[in-house]
Amino acid sequence: MVDFIDVIIPIPLKKLFTYTVTPAEAEFLKPGMRVAVPFGKSKIYTGLVFSVHKNEPAAYEAKDIQQILDDKPIVNAQQLKFWQWIASYYMCTLGDVMRAALPNAFILESETVVTKGKVAIIDDSVLKDDEFLVYEALQHQSSLKIQDISNILGKKNVLHVIKGLIEKEAVLVEEEVYEKYKPKLVRYVKLQTSYTSEKAFHELMEELSRAPKQRDVVLTLFSISAKTKKPVKVTDLVTESGASSSIVRALIDKGVLEEYHIQTDRVEYSGADTEASKHLNEHQETALAEINSCFESHAVTLLHGVTSSGKTEVYVKLIEAVLQQGRQVLYLLPEIALTTQLITRLQNYFGEQVAVFHSKYSAHERVEVWNQVLTNSAKAQIVLGARSSIFLPFNHLGLIVVDEEHEQSFKQFDPAPRYHARDAAVVLAHLHQAKTLLGSATPSLESYYNARQNKYGFVELLYRYNNVLMPDIELVDIKDKQKKKRMKGHFSDRLIEEMTETLAEGHQIILFQNRRGFSPIVECKTCGHAPECPNCDVSLTYHQYRNQLRCHYCGYHAAMMQDCLACGGQDLDSKGFGTEQIEEEVKILFPDYKVARMDLDTTRGKYGYEKIITALEQQEIDILVGTQMLTKGLDFRNVKLVGIMNADNMLNFPDFRAHERSFQLMLQVAGRAGRTAERGKVLIQTYNPHHNILQQVSTNNYIDMFKEQMNDRYNFKYPPIYKQIKITLKHKDFNRVETASIWFAKSLRQVFGDHILGPEAPPVARIRNQFHKNILVKIPKKHSLAKTKEAIIKINNSFESVKDFRSVRVILNVDNF
Ligand code: ADP
Ligand code: ZN
Repeated sequence: MVDFIDVIIPIPLKKLFTYTVTPAEAEFLKPGMRVAVPFGKSKIYTGLVFSVHKNEPAAYEAKDIQQILDDKPIVNAQQLKFWQWIASYYMCTLGDVMRAALPNAFILESETVVTKGKVAIIDDSVLKDDEFLVYEALQHQSSLKIQDISNILGKKNVLHVIKGLIEKEAVLVEEEVYEKYKPKLVRYVKLQTSYTSEKAFHELMEELSRAPKQRDVVLTLFSISAKTKKPVKVTDLVTESGASSSIVRALIDKGVLEEYHIQTDRVEYSGADTEASKHLNEHQETALAEINSCFESHAVTLLHGVTSSGKTEVYVKLIEAVLQQGRQVLYLLPEIALTTQLITRLQNYFGEQVAVFHSKYSAHERVEVWNQVLTNSAKAQIVLGARSSIFLPFNHLGLIVVDEEHEQSFKQFDPAPRYHARDAAVVLAHLHQAKTLLGSATPSLESYYNARQNKYGFVELLYRYNNVLMPDIELVDIKDKQKKKRMKGHFSDRLIEEMTETLAEGHQIILFQNRRGFSPIVECKTCGHAPECPNCDVSLTYHQYRNQLRCHYCGYHAAMMQDCLACGGQDLDSKGFGTEQIEEEVKILFPDYKVARMDLDTTRGKYGYEKIITALEQQEIDILVGTQMLTKGLDFRNVKLVGIMNADNMLNFPDFRAHERSFQLMLQVAGRAGRTAERGKVLIQTYNPHHNILQQVSTNNYIDMFKEQMNDRYNFKYPPIYKQIKITLKHKDFNRVETASIWFAKSLRQVFGDHILGPEAPPVARIRNQFHKNILVKIPKKHSLAKTKEAIIKINNSFESVKDFRSVRVILNVDNF
C-alpha cells in the first residue's frame, strides 16, 4: 500500500494537496514538518505536512515530494488546530494562514532570491560541499535565484542546501533585504580599567582635586555602581551628580571614563539583576484579586482601568504567577505601542525571559524568537508582541494579556487572513486552556458588551496610581471664538493662554491633530479645480515638507505644480497636511520653544518613532504635534497640557464606529496629560461643544457613551448586536464589477433577504485602477454564523463558475470593523 501526505502550500488553494511518500518517509514525517514539493508545471514550494495517510486522491495522480526539510516539526499540533480555526472563521485558506504565520525565512520557494549573509566571513569548514559552492558563487554575484542554484549544483533538490546556509547565517533570503530595525542604543559610562585598582583610584582623586566638579562625577559614579551593581547610564550619572553632561564628556576625553552603548530593546540581559515587582496599592490589590476570582469562572476577563491606574503592574503580578506554574505568557500590544518604554519595564522584572516579536525585526530575529518559543526556551517565557505573535509555536500557554484591547490595529485588513488578534487570542488561549485578560482604559463596545452579558469576567480599576487626578478637560467653542475674532490660525485664545502658562512653568505640551483632519488638498482659487490621483478616485494630498502631492491610497506622488492644471490660474490655495500646518503655526506663535512633529511622515525612517519619544522623554522637545500615534500607552512625566485641535472631523467620519472611536481617541490622548503629582489639563477645540460624545469625554463617562452607542447599534443593526461580513468585489472594468456585484447581492438576498446591504461603491470607489463594490451581510445573533458562511461560500462557488466573473476578485472580510 502506498503512503500519502496532505500538504499545506502557502498559496490560496481551497484544498490541501496530496503527495506520495515512501514508507520510510511516511514513518519519519510528522505533521508540522516542511517538505519541498513540486507544484504546477515547474514550481517548487515549501509545503507543511498536515497529515500522513493512505488515501489516494481520486481526482489527480499524486506526485512525489522532492525533499524533506526538517528533522522535527516546526509547527505543533495546537497551532495546526488554531490555523484551521482561523481559516474557517475568517473564510480563507490554510495556505493564507501559513503565509501569515511562518517567518518568511521558513518559506523557501522557486521565486525566492538568495543573497549574501551579513556575517562577513564564514568558516568554510562548517559548510557542506554544496553549501560552499553556493556560498562561493555569492561572493561573485549579489543574488541567486533557486534556478541558478539548481544549475550551479547540477541538481533539482536544493531547498535543503539553502536552508542549511540560512541556519549558518551565510545567506539571507530576499525579504530580509528590507530596512533593518536597529534597536535604540543607550549611553553608559564606566571607569577606565587602568583606574580600577585602589591605588590608581587614589592617585586619580589627588589629580582631580583641582577639578572638583569632575571629581564629584567620578565619586558619584563610584557610589552608584557600588549601590546598584549595574551598568550606569550617562543620564543617571548626570542627574545624580548634578553636573552637566559636558563635564562627563571632558572625563571621557581625558580617558578617565569610558563610554559604551547597550541595546535596550533586544534581550541582552546579563546576570540575574532583576527588580522585584512593585507592591500594589489597595485598588490594584483588589483588582488583582477580582481578576483571579473571575478567572475561576471565566476564561476571559476584561479589565477596565483608567489611564495611569497601574494596569501594567497588575499584569506583572499575573504574569509572575503564571511563570511560576512553568507556563508561557503572551503579551499582545498594538504594533506602535511596542516601545522601549514598556520593553525595558518588563525586562526590569523578568530579565531575559522576555522575548520581543514585531514586524520591524529582521527575518533572522523572527526565526530566532520562533525557535525559542518552539523549544520552550527560558529566553522566551514571556513574548511581548504585535498581532502576528499569536502565530508563534507556543506549547504551554498559561495567560494572554491583550493590552489596549480596543485598538483597531489588532485587526489585519489585508491580505488574508483578515483576523482580529484579540478575538483570535481568545481562541488560542482556549486551545491551551489558558486565560485571557483584556485591558483598556476605553474598552471596545464589543468587549464591554461581552462583559455585561457575563460572557467575560469584568473588573474595574477607576483610580489613578498615587491618586493623581484625572486631567481637567475643557471644551473650547471655536465657532464662537471665530465670531469674536479670537482665533489665530487654528489656535483659540484659550489654547494659546494655557500653552503660554505651561511653557512658562517648564512643562511640556502635546497637540493632537487627527490624521483625517483638515483637508490638506490643493484648490485653484480661480476655477476650483483640485488635482486627483490618476489611479484612484481621490484628491491628492499636499505635503508641504517635500512640496509634493501624494495619494494616500496607492502612493502615487508628483511635484507640487506652479499653476492650475485646468485653467492655468496662478492662485493656488494649498493647505499643508494637518500636523504640518499646526507645526508651522506653533513655530510662529512660540518662536523660542522647540517644536517637533510625530506622524507617518516623520516616523517612517529607521527609528523615527523611537527618536521622537526619546527626545520628548529627555525634554529636548517642548511642544509635540502629532496624530493617532501619540495615544498609544506612552508615559511622559512632564507633559501637563494636551490640546486637541479639532474634535469634529473625527466625530463626523462616515463609519458606524466613529463616535466610539472618537471617545477612545480623545480619552487616550487626554491620558497623556499630568501623569504625576500636578493635575493635567486638556483643551478640546470644537464647533459643537454640545455633542454628546464631547460631553461624555469631558466627564470621563464611559457608561453613558456605552449605553447611547449601544442604542444606535440596536436601532441600526450594527455590531456587536449583529455580526457582519463584508464582501468586496474588485475589477479594472467598471461595468463588469457592476454586473458582478449585482449578481452576487441578488443571490445573497435570495437566502438572507433584507439582511443584505448593497452593492455600494465605497467613498473611494477606484483604487489602483481597480473599481470596488461592497456588499454587507448582517447576521442577527440568533442565526448560525457557520451556516451563513456556508451559504456565502456556496454562492461564491457558483459566482466563480460564471465565465464573465472569473476575473473579478472577491474579498471576504469577517468582522470587517
Ligand atoms: P496604565 O498602564 O494603567 O496607564 P501604568 O501601569 O503605566 O498605568 O502606571 C502608571 C505609573 O504609575 C507608572 O509610572 C508606574 O510605574 C506607576 N505605578 C503603577 N503602579 C505602581 C505601584 N504599585 N507602585 C509604584 N509605582 C506604580
Ligand atoms: Zn492613488
